[in-house]
Amino acid sequence: MNMEMKFSARNVLVTGASRGIGRAIAMAFANEGAHIAVHYRSNVQAAENTLEALAGNGHCRIAADVSDPAECERLVHETIERLGGLDILVNNAGIYATRPVLEQNYDDWQTAWRTMLATNLTGPAHLCFLAAQHMQAHGGGRIVNISSRGAFRGEPESPAYGASKAGLNALSQSLAVALAPHNIFVGVVAPGFVETDMTRPYLDGPHGDTIRAQSPLNRVVGENEIATAVLFLADPELPSVTGAIIDVNGASYLRS
Ligand code: NAP
Repeated sequence: MNMEMKFSARNVLVTGASRGIGRAIAMAFANEGAHIAVHYRSNVQAAENTLEALAGNGHCRIAADVSDPAECERLVHETIERLGGLDILVNNAGIYATRPVLEQNYDDWQTAWRTMLATNLTGPAHLCFLAAQHMQAHGGGRIVNISSRGAFRGEPESPAYGASKAGLNALSQSLAVALAPHNIFVGVVAPGFVETDMTRPYLDGPHGDTIRAQSPLNRVVGENEIATAVLFLADPELPSVTGAIIDVNGASYLRS
């Protein structure tokens, strides 16, 4: 019997796949037959570990700083060259930094905004642009962007982070409308707290229990739960889900 997998031979670029949520997404796509470009910034060993953990074959790893537009261009071109195409882009790479508004000087404030927006918003925007050119020329594709609960709930300790993710939501929905006629579908997953390198200091700290108690499940979200939502948005049988923002936050913040 031919057991065709959902993403058999699909070429997927997952940014920030060396660690955390990105690694879980890469593994979930590989389990469904996809070929993965494991993107990372500088942590070669972590990226190599992801690569080794992936099921199947035909994967590669590519380093690039997504806050640099020229690096974004190289990343997409290298992905297409090494995988032989690009069917699905997952913009997952991102940064968080605590930067309370009344506890820093103006120079630091500006630097935080520049860095945060370049990594979390304009970098993904450039990757969407570059991927869309290729996808349009090859019959279509999927883009899934990883936003955050903070876009809706607010990020008092890091306003630039919250704004970068709210911008990513708006970008994704604009692109969903613009690109649907070209068979390119765009979705967003907005996670609540997930235990990764990004959040471990907070979850292991004095406020860890309070953070877990934000959800009636009394725990944070599993990275595999985020991966499952990403694969749902990339499902070839669900084009009408385009434009959706899926909250995966254990009811820790509800909106309607
Ligand atoms: P993480 O464990 O800190 O991993 C970050 C990943 O992004 C790494 O692969 C890192 O590469 C890469 N990266 C960071 N800056 C980059 C840059 N300038 N250029 C290229 N790659 C860069 O993060 P995570 O917790 O898995 O978060 C993944 C995504 O989910 C982020 O967009 C984050 O905002 C979002 N999110 C996370 C949570 C959470 O609770 N963890 C909640 C809501 C949303 P290296 O390994 O090479 O450094």
